[in-house]
Amino acid sequence: MAKNIESMEAKELMRDYVMQKGALAFGVADVQTLEKIAPQGYGPTALLPRVKSVISLGVGGGTRGAWAADAKTLAYIGDTETMAYKIAYGLAFMIEQKFGARAIFCPPDMDPEKGARTPMQSLKLHAEVAGIGARSMAGDILLHPDFGMMYYASVFTEMTVPPDQPMAENPCPHPSCVKLYDQTGQTPCMRFCPVDCLSGSVDENGKLEEMNYDAHACAAMSQQYEAIPNILLDMMDAKDPIERGMAVHSPENQLIWYKLSIGAGELLSLCYECMRVCPITQSSMMVKPIAKEGGLRQKVSEAKNQAQTDIETGVDP
Ligand code: SF4
Ligand code: SF4
Repeated sequence: MAKNIESMEAKELMRDYVMQKGALAFGVADVQTLEKIAPQGYGPTALLPRVKSVISLGVGGGTRGAWAADAKTLAYIGDTETMAYKIAYGLAFMIEQKFGARAIFCPPDMDPEKGARTPMQSLKLHAEVAGIGARSMAGDILLHPDFGMMYYASVFTEMTVPPDQPMAENPCPHPSCVKLYDQTGQTPCMRFCPVDCLSGSVDENGKLEEMNYDAHACAAMSQQYEAIPNILLDMMDAKDPIERGMAVHSPENQLIWYKLSIGAGELLSLCYECMRVCPITQSSMMVKPIAKEGGLRQKVSEAKNQAQTDIETGVDP
């Protein structure tokens, strides 16, 4: 490795870099594990044949104010994925410059040959295997016990970086959700999803047993890019110029053209109601920085100190 930097030390320099840029969580996923779990042709080596490590990072979602805003506003300001992508892009350059190993920012995009439901890589799987998120009852949204819902990005590198382990315990369902489930047969996310797209069960030990997610219902509610083919069909099926004009210029559709013209990310969003009522997200550091001992700054600094101790004592964290 360049400049005789040990892989554990390099890992901590990467962690420092992403934390300084605003990430909350950092982890490294084991490439062999990802290759076993990902569908054929969708493991990390499909993108970078000599990849040795997959680095995952998470940034916080909405601010405390965002969660108190009305549904329309939250749909515009709840997502922060571009910040995660920016940090990952910078990390790929940092790895190449500092350690001399090839690295890429993992594209968060859909496979152009497979349509709108098949991503080139699952950033969620990377984060899950890297131990910075666990699958929840809310449509598999990953949750972190301290940071709630985050947005993730990944970097692939040909450099070997010691991998982390997935979380030992899934924070979902929260104890208060188990209580509500026992009383009503529904957890808060199920109960407050406006289009009933979540269902599932909690076992007698209060663990997540089954989760069902109607992705089409969720997308119809919140992902406006899915509406575009239907608008085009309406235009082609229109019987006369007035009907065709309505298909193009109705107020709802005009908003979609506007978003397209300015490249607004809100064509692809969530309605967020499942997370607005999720006790893990609503008690996270980002939302209630003083609710947990020491607050956000101390938590991040504790994680850093623990990692430093691990290096000094030779423990593989
Ligand atoms: S984002 Fe909205 S529609 Fe989708 S699962 Fe959550 S509450 Fe339901
Ligand atoms: S509300 Fe949150 S913690 Fe509770 S079951 Fe749903 S996703 Fe899990």
